[in-house]
Amino acid sequence: MRVVSTVNEVRNQVKAWKKEGLSIGFVPTMGYLHEGHASLIKRSVSENDKVVVSIFVNPMQFGPTEDLASYPRDLEADSKLCEEMGAELIFHPEPEEMYDQGFCSFVDMNGLTNALCGLSRPVHFRGVCTVVNKLFNIVTPDKAYFGEKDAQQLAVIKRMVKDLNMDIEIVGCPIIREADGLAKSSRNTYLSDESRKQAVILSKSIFMGKKMIEDGERNAKKVIDAMKDMINSASLTKIDYVEIVDVNTMKSIDEIKGEILCAIAVNVGGEARLIDNFMMKVD
Ligand code: AMP
Repeated sequence: MRVVSTVNEVRNQVKAWKKEGLSIGFVPTMGYLHEGHASLIKRSVSENDKVVVSIFVNPMQFGPTEDLASYPRDLEADSKLCEEMGAELIFHPEPEEMYDQGFCSFVDMNGLTNALCGLSRPVHFRGVCTVVNKLFNIVTPDKAYFGEKDAQQLAVIKRMVKDLNMDIEIVGCPIIREADGLAKSSRNTYLSDESRKQAVILSKSIFMGKKMIEDGERNAKKVIDAMKDMINSASLTKIDYVEIVDVNTMKSIDEIKGEILCAIAVNVGGEARLIDNFMMKVD
């Protein structure tokens, strides 16, 4: 597996591929790859001639009290997985390669980012938008792949690409889960055995909320309250938010209709802040 750490190496390779008329797929990640990431890479390989995966734990999207230093890393295992999935190139830069000393330009957003994770992680989406913009400029892909696991991020990136006229197709991919339902996440490794057991309550509440709406419930508060009760029944959980929003605006709704996103963020055992969600089109 070819792993490069400089912008120039990526540019030279991508230019050579484009000269041959080949299409480029791109999967941005923070590494410690699991089957969720693998599903994005696989999809990208099936829809493009060449696939670039970036592995970069982006300091700019972490708040001062968040888990930047402890975020798990394993480049060897990641390379193996990328190779198996059929990716061609890993871009693994050091922070200094991405942000030199004089760095002072940012991509920011109003509206979509003033809700859900944007409220508890105030610098997060500015960091995400800035780094994804930079990565898009470096890799110049035809298509880029993002997981619905991070539904707000997916909506933010789609909006940014539209607003800034970027010539890149954004492809959303379904959430991949563990056998018991817990959404796969690099952060699941933070959980102790007991917290891991209790963490299944997140997906259980997601499945229950979805079923309530499928069965006809249209009152958002009723669904949210039932989900909160379920999550609170596990002793180690601390809810950050349980919200139902319009997927296009990220604004809370009272009556469930249209394209909705039901999203949750829950701290488990004081060890990991985990997120999960479902999206639905309701007539
Ligand atoms: P991360 O490395 O956590 O920044 O994630 C990189 C990409 O993988 C993002 O687009 C995520 O939404 C996606 N991803 C992470 N976990 C999952 C999952 N369980 N299912 C599908 N996509 C995922």
